[in-house]
Amino acid sequence: MKNYDVKNIRFTVLGAGRSGLAVAKLLKNSGADVFLSDASPKNKLLYFNEEEFAKLQIPYELGGNTDRIFDAEYFVTSPGIPPDSEIFLKAFDKGIKILSEIEIAYRFCDAPIIAITGTNGKTTTTELTGQIFRDAGKDVHVCGNVGLAFSEIIPKLTNQSVVVLEVSSFQLEFISEFRPEAAMILNITQDHIDWHGSFEKYALAKYRINLNQTSDDLFVVNYDDGLLRENINNFRGIKGAFSSLTKPGGSVQNRAYLKAGSIFYDAGRDEKIISTNDIFIRGSHNVMNSMAAILAAKRFGINSESIANTLRTFRGVEHRIEPVREIDGVKYYNDSKATNYDSLYVALESFEGNIILIMGGKKGENNFGTVDELIKSRVKMICAIGESRDAIYDRYSKDIKVKKHDTLEDAVKAAYKESKKGDFVLFSPGYKSFDMFDNYEHRGKAFKEIVNNLNGK
Ligand code: ADP
Repeated sequence: MKNYDVKNIRFTVLGAGRSGLAVAKLLKNSGADVFLSDASPKNKLLYFNEEEFAKLQIPYELGGNTDRIFDAEYFVTSPGIPPDSEIFLKAFDKGIKILSEIEIAYRFCDAPIIAITGTNGKTTTTELTGQIFRDAGKDVHVCGNVGLAFSEIIPKLTNQSVVVLEVSSFQLEFISEFRPEAAMILNITQDHIDWHGSFEKYALAKYRINLNQTSDDLFVVNYDDGLLRENINNFRGIKGAFSSLTKPGGSVQNRAYLKAGSIFYDAGRDEKIISTNDIFIRGSHNVMNSMAAILAAKRFGINSESIANTLRTFRGVEHRIEPVREIDGVKYYNDSKATNYDSLYVALESFEGNIILIMGGKKGENNFGTVDELIKSRVKMICAIGESRDAIYDRYSKDIKVKKHDTLEDAVKAAYKESKKGDFVLFSPGYKSFDMFDNYEHRGKAFKEIVNNLNGK
């Protein structure tokens, strides 16, 4: 563990979620003076353990922020709090410095970091990169936005370790020294604009992943993303880029790109890594995610055969076009993470046809235009559920068979009944889950349970 001297320095950790709790412990165990504050009541805080905090002697308050939070030199923030919120403005006035959890963990971390950000694909690319390193026998620690917090893994690191870190734009907004040896931006599309204030601010927050990189560090972008491609020369470090359309040129030194259905890598010499047909996870978006992971793996000297082996076997992340079961030649996929039409689009694009689509959820934006073409050309039937089922029915029942269902179970049974050998039953809702479920994980688990209880015909 790197020595970051925090003895007797006063930190207020805002937010008692997983990363807040982990960073509070890390700081306290390193001799800092820590106060934890969360506006939510105790029963909303899944990971908070009162006894543990009493034992650690970390004072805390829950269910609201009192003025005691301002009795600190540093705030450690949680993604839940927007940068222009009143407590931050007040903190700025008082000269309190605001840092994110990854910044603090970074200051204790002496392992090289691969940091991954983007609007979509972060979790998949992070997990895939981690698996490539694991399969190659590296001591890799996957952490960040989901699962383990960066601060949680710090005590486990050795001088052989590599950290693969998923980072959100929220966390990047409050870094100062954070320097990953390899960083990547997978894509930037309209999302989280409310939190950041504008698209420009959102993009700028993502660019900060490159802020402290040096000329020896690797910085990877998606070359098919116009904004990233146009800005590439403004970034620091060795440039890496991946593309499904062209071989990246210009200042790009490390390239991953598609040629004749295969992924090639070129950092001075063209080398075939794998045919896209051999990649287990489906879809052209996952070809992009795979290329990003390859660039990171190559930077750390992992050989191509080992990388290709992982790509052939990595089964993806739960709830993202996740294969569930095959019954009588029909394959069932859980894509409950598809809470919007962009995700629905990439899921539909991942199957060439014969799709029986189960979709619908909480009433929201019906962004039909995005998927009209794909639905008409690739979907045989829609089983519509949730609050949005009428809108879906009205839009598509002229063109294809659409049935409305009151429960997910009825929808799955109808899909099952209708299916023929060679079909794909795809549960890709395109809407949020809160009309019928707690969250997308709950919804995905419900789907899998129903599918696993079906009996063959
Ligand atoms: P994140 O962690 O950024 O939310 P995930 O890996 O969990 O990303 O994927 C979330 C959703 O985004 C998936 O369901 C998929 O539909 C879509 N997706 C994944 N990778 C990409 C990509 N490279 N480009 C566009 N969409 C993607």
